[in-house]
Amino acid sequence: MPRSAPTPCRHPGCGMVLAKPGYCDKHRGAAYRDYGRTRRSFDIERGFYQSATWRAVRAAFLRQHPVCVRCAGRGRVVAAVVADHVQPLKDGGARFDWTNLQALCVACHNSKTAGETARRR
Ligand SMILES: [Zn+2]
Ligand SMILES: [Zn+2]
Repeated sequence: MPRSAPTPCRHPGCGMVLAKPGYCDKHRGAAYRDYGRTRRSFDIERGFYQSATWRAVRAAFLRQHPVCVRCAGRGRVVAAVVADHVQPLKDGGARFDWTNLQALCVACHNSKTAGETARRR
């Protein structure tokens, strides 16, 4: 395969053919703007997870739900360390509602997060 096969612009519906993978001149700027927006929403979430309110909710939730629910479903008892949002905050999930929380161990939380990222591609 040639190293620089022509590829279409990655902007949905553009169709401009480029020598290298990426965006055409028209859409290169737009892609950078989207990237900046994604970064900002990450920062907002990070601020939330560090807030005193969330720490208190998380601590209270894990006191009541000390065992990972996914591992429990497989018949294993593993200490939960993560109060995970069943519906992610970025999808509009309730932040402090216990019905939107589930207790997970680190391994289960990582595999859930990986699955969410994969579905987004
Ligand atoms: Zn384009
Ligand atoms: Zn687990």
